[in-house]
Amino acid sequence: MSPERLLELLQTLIPWAVGAAIAATAYRLVPRLAPIVRLLPGRPRVRLPPDRVPEAWREVVGRNVPLAARLSGPDRERLLRLMQVFVREVPMEGVGLEITGEIRVTVAALACLALLDLEYPRYPTLRRILVYPGVFQPRRVPSLGVGEIYHEPGATLGEAWTGGIVVLAWESCLVSSLDPDDGRNVVLHEFAHVLDGENGAMDGVPVLERTGALRAWRAALRSAYDREVAAVLAGDGEPPVHPYGATSRAEFFAVVTEEFFERPVSLRQKLPEFYAELCRFYRRDPAGTA
Ligand SMILES: [Zn+2]
Repeated sequence: MSPERLLELLQTLIPWAVGAAIAATAYRLVPRLAPIVRLLPGRPRVRLPPDRVPEAWREVVGRNVPLAARLSGPDRERLLRLMQVFVREVPMEGVGLEITGEIRVTVAALACLALLDLEYPRYPTLRRILVYPGVFQPRRVPSLGVGEIYHEPGATLGEAWTGGIVVLAWESCLVSSLDPDDGRNVVLHEFAHVLDGENGAMDGVPVLERTGALRAWRAALRSAYDREVAAVLAGDGEPPVHPYGATSRAEFFAVVTEEFFERPVSLRQKLPEFYAELCRFYRRDPAGTA
């Protein structure tokens, strides 16, 4: 090839190379920008699919997700529509079990319960859900922050990784869902971690949509978490929420989210300031309708 021809070819290729580099950068940045984009005012709510909701879904939700029975009729319909988007967009894989319609619908219902009043898109960082039949052994030890309590990794019920993977033990998901009053709900717990991690760090501070909300959230979180840790370390009093909440701020937010949806009246009594922040974040006051 002559030097002139080579130069000509390079001149032709350079704009394509620049375009490809920009596209690749944008592709990598979009998940990181998603939480920021959500802060832009005036963004319309997601358009939920008009498709008919399968009758079997209503039956599964009615049987496996008693928390949904506490919703108003319109909220229950919105939940089912959100589930349609969730099921369509989030791959679910079984590890040693086959993903049945029942598993898919139950997990989707609980994951979407947290989204009911939030602006969509949510879970933009979520890439995949892995479901084990029962408790499983974590494959890694979580890194700890200052003041966090280390627990030996043992068999676990669920995990949420910053890379967008949620791992669940189906049996525990179902059992914890079937009792809507015990303050324990594995799916809500793990998806609270996903919400928490949308800004790149699982630290008990999710993406807050109101201007100026961060300071109030941090103050309420710090005060509530300090109370939890002090009560657990002292061992002579009842901590505000399950002692696992004292593990880290991230675990505290996840545990408190379980209580928020399952035992809101009790949570409001124990942690009124943080409960108010949760109401602003989830745009819902479950204690008001309990
Ligand atoms: Zn957790």
